[in-house]
Amino acid sequence: MSENRSLARSTLCLAAILVLLGAVTPAHGQAISDGSKPASQLSLVFPVKQNTLCKGTCTPANAPIMTVFDHEMQVAYECTAGEGGYGSVTAFTGESGTVKYSGFKSGAGKCNGLLFAYTNPEITNFLEGYNYDNGGVLYYDGHPGIDYSFAFGTPLYAAVNGCVTYLDGADGIPLGSRGHVLAIVPQPTKPTGGCANVVNTSGYRVIYMHLSSYYDSTNGAVMRCTSSDPKGTECNAGEDIIACPTCAQQNQWVSTKTASPIGYTGNFSDDVWGGVPAHLHFEVDNVVGSSPVAVDPYGWCGPQSDPYTALTGLTNVTLWSGFTLACPEKP
Ligand SMILES: [Zn+2]
Repeated sequence: MSENRSLARSTLCLAAILVLLGAVTPAHGQAISDGSKPASQLSLVFPVKQNTLCKGTCTPANAPIMTVFDHEMQVAYECTAGEGGYGSVTAFTGESGTVKYSGFKSGAGKCNGLLFAYTNPEITNFLEGYNYDNGGVLYYDGHPGIDYSFAFGTPLYAAVNGCVTYLDGADGIPLGSRGHVLAIVPQPTKPTGGCANVVNTSGYRVIYMHLSSYYDSTNGAVMRCTSSDPKGTECNAGEDIIACPTCAQQNQWVSTKTASPIGYTGNFSDDVWGGVPAHLHFEVDNVVGSSPVAVDPYGWCGPQSDPYTALTGLTNVTLWSGFTLACPEKP
C-alpha cells in the first residue's frame, strides 16, 4: 500500500495510472479466474435454532447481528498502516460507513491491533429490517464474517453437512486454535472412508469462531468451558472445563439434521477467555485459490455493484437456504 500512496503523490502520468489500476487485482496472492468458482453453491442452515434474541426460531434476518461482513476489504483485518483501516465499511445492503467512529476497539486487527468502525451522517440506522444492534455505526473495517451477539454457551448446530476440523484457521487468522475455530468442510454425505483424508471438492469452508468448545491437542478430545462468560483464567480444568463427547469431534461428519449441538458460542480470542465479548463469528471461506478468501453468506443487494468483486474477483451470492434478502429501495 505504501508503494501505491507514494505513486499517488507523484505526477499522475499514464504509467502511474496503469500501476494504480493494477493494484485492484486480487490481494490474496493468486490469480482469480474461472478456477475460483466453487463446484456448487452452498445452501446454509442458520446455525442457531430457538433463541430469545431472535424472538423465536433464528433466521439470517432476525438473528442479532453486531458486525457485518465488510465488502470494502481486500485482506481480512488488514489496513493501510497508520491510517485506521481502509477508511470505510460497506454492508451487504450497500450501505457504507465512511466517517471514522471514535469507538474503535482492540481485536485481531492488523492496524496496530485495532479494528475500526465507521458512521455515516446520512444514515442514522444501518440494516433496517434486520436485527442489527449497532444502529448508526458499522463494525468493523476488514471484517471477513458476520458476528452475532449470542450469549456465552449458546448451542450451535451444523449449518451444512460436512466434516469438522478444529485444525484450520480462518481468513486472516492462520492459527485457528488461538480463536477456537470450528470449521466444516462441506460433504453432502458421510465419506465412506471417513473424514480424515477427505478432499474438499466443494470450494468452501464454513467457520465458527471464538467458541467455548474446542479441540484439546494434548488429549485429542473436544472440551467445553461451562463457566458463565469467563475472563482470563476463570476456565479451570476439571471444574469449568469438561469433556464434551456430544460436541462435534475432530474429523466427525455432521449433518444439518443432527439434533444435538456441534459446539457452543464463547468469547475466546487471541489465546484467552474474554479476549472478545461473547458472540458467534460466522464465516464462509472460498478455498479454491491458494489461500482462503472470505465471502458474505448474505450475498449482495446494494444499488451499486459489489465493491468486493472489484477487489477480490469473487462474486457474493446469498448462501442461506430459503432466505431472500431484504434490500434497500434502489434510487
Ligand atoms: Zn467476527
